[in-house]
Amino acid sequence: MNIRDIPKEGGRVNIRKDSEWFMNMLGDADIDIEFLNEEMTATIDIHLHHDKAVVIEGELHADVVLRCVKCLESFRNLINRHFSVTLEPYDASLTTRHAVSMAELDTEVYLNDEFDPDAVVFEQIMLSLPMYPLCRHDCRGLCPYCGINLNENADHKCRQHEEDSALSRQLRKIKNNL
Ligand SMILES: [Zn+2]
Ligand SMILES: [Zn+2]
Repeated sequence: MNIRDIPKEGGRVNIRKDSEWFMNMLGDADIDIEFLNEEMTATIDIHLHHDKAVVIEGELHADVVLRCVKCLESFRNLINRHFSVTLEPYDASLTTRHAVSMAELDTEVYLNDEFDPDAVVFEQIMLSLPMYPLCRHDCRGLCPYCGINLNENADHKCRQHEEDSALSRQLRKIKNNL
């Protein structure tokens, strides 16, 4: 979108995306996510401040499926996020003058009067995702011996585990007798 296309009074854009779009945006990033309803919707209001700064305010709704890092089961994660982002025009002189990268400046920028509302929404989805996805806060994970799901098998005691401890008991006995 070109900043000249933003109406003086501001404009509203509705964005609707599916999982294919998300996967394309992800590229090579290693993240285990799929859209359950294959749908993400966002409504964003765009204003241009002082003919320069692009101010984007939006609502984002996404229905995503994540994989629990402990039990490896997939689970549903609803994202409802309100966000506000300001994009400043890229100023090369600023970075060279102060010899810092734009990343260090912590400012979002647009180039050649163009910006991409989709990219802004994608970034907001990424910010909404948990760094350490858990199906529930007290997920018990998998049995370290046989891999059975301990959430579904609360009373599980692993035979392998018992054999291990029997063996270590014997080893300890041998060691003590040396
Ligand atoms: Zn889990
Ligand atoms: Zn087990």
